[in-house]
Amino acid sequence: MKVTVIGSGDAFGSGGRFNACLRVEAGAEHLLLDCGATSLVALNRAGIDRNGLSTLLFTHFHGDHFGGLPAFLLEAQFVSRRSRPLTIAGPKGVEQRARQMLEADFPGASGNAWRFPITYVEITPDAPATLAGIAVEAFPMRHDERAGPCQGYRLAHGGKVFAFSGDSAWTDALVPLAAGADALLIECYTWDRVLANHLDYGTLAAHRAELGARRVILTHMGPQMLGHQEPLPEERAHDGMVLSL
Ligand SMILES: [Zn+2]
Ligand SMILES: [Zn+2]
Repeated sequence: MKVTVIGSGDAFGSGGRFNACLRVEAGAEHLLLDCGATSLVALNRAGIDRNGLSTLLFTHFHGDHFGGLPAFLLEAQFVSRRSRPLTIAGPKGVEQRARQMLEADFPGASGNAWRFPITYVEITPDAPATLAGIAVEAFPMRHDERAGPCQGYRLAHGGKVFAFSGDSAWTDALVPLAAGADALLIECYTWDRVLANHLDYGTLAAHRAELGARRVILTHMGPQMLGHQEPLPEERAHDGMVLSL
């Protein structure tokens, strides 16, 4: 499994980083995990062919994770002229949220006759699924239920496991999410400012021993976190980072 960090930024592009977006390659199948508002720009910059992606999987419905979907669909329809089926997966309600956002961003577009089949799949913590040949398991995160359910995912393929928190404050569900993973990409928005819906480095460090992943990589860093460049036991994600698992 190979994971490319297309975007490692927070909601506001702090540090010039793109919104959350990861490409996961497992054999011939490619999946995009989150596609934020700036992700189409980031995909173009990285030279990634959208037609190579079979599946989009979303952690929650905030714009910096989900907001790139309308442009992705319209680009597929009118520019890439996609014919390959597309699976759009995410938390409960993903189809309705997708239609609402498409209509809000491009009025009338939700009525398009798509040139490619679209299948919506709801992923819930009690129903593991297989997407793009990858075993996907969802974990409930603690973030903002108005934009959820908010979920983290464990992706398993070929004996390797990649885990992604999406957005979350500390929750004990991060422990099974990380357990035995080859890599955990975990949000770390602030350094020591404790928030109700995001993780700060102090809290993460206090729970670090509970995160049983081989590699722990920080992402979704805001201005305060980016201001701390001292060496840490964890890695820091950057746009373009590649994880070969
Ligand atoms: Zn976010
Ligand atoms: Zn969020």
